[in-house]
Amino acid sequence: YGKYPDVITSMQFERMSNASGPTGGKIIRPSDGKEPKNVVFIKCVGSRDPEKGKTYCSRACCMYTAKHAHQVIDKIPDSKAFVFYMDVRTPGKAYDEFYEMAAGEGAVYVRGRVSKIYPRGDKLVVKGEDTLVGMPVEIEADLVVLATAMVPSEANDELAKKLSISMDKDGWFQEAHPKLRPVETFTAGVYLAGACQGPKDIPDTVSQASAAAVKVCSLFSKTEMATDPQVAAVDNAICSGCGLCVPVCPFKAIELVPIQERVQGQMQERLVASVNEGLCQGCGNCNSACRSSAINVKGFTDQQILMEVDALCL
Ligand SMILES: Cc1cc2nc3c(=O)[nH]c(=O)nc-3n(C[C@H](O)[C@H](O)[C@H](O)COP(=O)(O)OP(=O)(O)OC[C@H]3O[C@@H](n4cnc5c(N)ncnc54)[C@H](O)[C@@H]3O)c2cc1C
Ligand code: SF4
Ligand code: SF4
Ligand code: SF4
Repeated sequence: YGKYPDVITSMQFERMSNASGPTGGKIIRPSDGKEPKNVVFIKCVGSRDPEKGKTYCSRACCMYTAKHAHQVIDKIPDSKAFVFYMDVRTPGKAYDEFYEMAAGEGAVYVRGRVSKIYPRGDKLVVKGEDTLVGMPVEIEADLVVLATAMVPSEANDELAKKLSISMDKDGWFQEAHPKLRPVETFTAGVYLAGACQGPKDIPDTVSQASAAAVKVCSLFSKTEMATDPQVAAVDNAICSGCGLCVPVCPFKAIELVPIQERVQGQMQERLVASVNEGLCQGCGNCNSACRSSAINVKGFTDQQILMEVDALCL
């Protein structure tokens, strides 16, 4: 890719085959504008490859490659579509039928990896191996389309810091629980929808977005919010207002607020830490940062924990 103009990504193919795209829906070779007759699709490019650092499946490319192969056969008379694949994953309603339709129309699925692509005249030679028959394969292609890995946005890191949400090892935003809280983050009030949370297709994106929208609606439909009782609380009498606990809170739940108190008959103002219980997730970071034990997670004060240890050890 980048070396030969007729090796393009699926995203470029998608734009080209779209009626509102740059070619008005006409599939052409970028090098000379001619209609390609032999189109080779290569799946799992960069996905499921620990050497490239991406062990995950990009989930949408098996189906959109079947769609692209169908579009080639449908739009270009006497054309051929070849698909190099590792697996064909069709885990959705009517997905397998769609793949069978593309294959039935004439899309040739070759199970194997491509080892080399090089030019021959105005064609590109795609060399690989059909691992089902154990034979080398060589196809002269007019256009090669790479189904590249879906990757998280480079801006995710900055956005995660701003919203105090976590990212997983691949850089996608982390859901609170993959099965039980798939649209929630660990930060109250921040929900996830779509490909920011992981690779997915449109039906999955719409389902997740609908669930996230319902969560937001139910949040705003109440005048009061029920939170987990295990949140941090500040003892104003002990808090010195040093502010050490503020930056250690990963959920930005602590701020310093002024309080008025009477000292030797005079009203005086000073700063103390204040916890927003709607944001606090009870992680206990502030507890460990506070030198005077002025902030504790309810039910987990130092004294309560020591008494529990005593009870267990005695
Ligand atoms: C080539 C290709 C073909 C596909 N074909 C199909 C198909 O036929 N059927 C199907 O079901 N799925 C298909 N998919 C998958 C489909 O594109 C995704 O499932 C879908 O786009 C996910 O929607 P989304 O809204 O989560 O993300 P996106 O569609 O990526 O939308 C996210 C939007 O957020 C914007 N954005 C990102 N960061 C910021 C920021 N910091 N501030 C403001 N805006 C920001 C982006 O610019 C973008 O507009 C295809 C994917 C590819 C790559
Ligand atoms: S969806 Fe298909 S093509 Fe895409 S990474 Fe997964 S197995 Fe490979
Ligand atoms: S709670 Fe502790 S760390 Fe936070 S401002 Fe008060 S004294 Fe400082
Ligand atoms: S326990 Fe303390 S550090 Fe953790 S979320 Fe609550 S206020 Fe923030």
